[in-house]
Amino acid sequence: MKSLYDTCKGHIIYFVTKIGNVSLSGFLYYLQLRLSGKTIMVTGSCNGCGTCCRSISLESEGGWLRSEKKFRRIVEDFPKYSRFEITGRDEQGFLLFNCTWVTPEGICRDYENRLPLCSAFPEASLVFAGGKIPSNCGYSFSEVVPFDKVLKNEMKKIR
Ligand code: SF4
Ligand code: SF4
Repeated sequence: MKSLYDTCKGHIIYFVTKIGNVSLSGFLYYLQLRLSGKTIMVTGSCNGCGTCCRSISLESEGGWLRSEKKFRRIVEDFPKYSRFEITGRDEQGFLLFNCTWVTPEGICRDYENRLPLCSAFPEASLVFAGGKIPSNCGYSFSEVVPFDKVLKNEMKKIR
């Protein structure tokens, strides 16, 4: 059986053009980064606003969830996902969810038992899926040159 994390990932919304589990804009950005030798680094810390618990898109087996029936099947297989309720659809017709565990103050009611997708947020891969961090989030994404590449270049200068 796949892990919950492998089966269903949550992401903050604001997607542009979703194609499967990537987006056209995210893929182009990925190529641009690879060509420039850079990578994405996550910096900052959580300020507890709770926004990422309220505007969620879920991904299952490589695709963004569009079908309510499919979501119900996921909940049958993985009851922990019953905490998510469908609140509507985005402009592309993909389902949007709210987590019923978040308090009005933005606190998780059972932080110790939150899902892996919650503790992993925000992953750098979110960028390539076409997602963005909410504007009030304490985290941000930065483009950086990987340390091993900087080290390699410096070693070349010494030799
Ligand atoms: S389980 Fe907790 S951390 Fe995860 S989305 Fe729900 S309220 Fe947020
Ligand atoms: S949106 Fe960012 S700052 Fe707000 S709760 Fe989520 S991780 Fe924390």
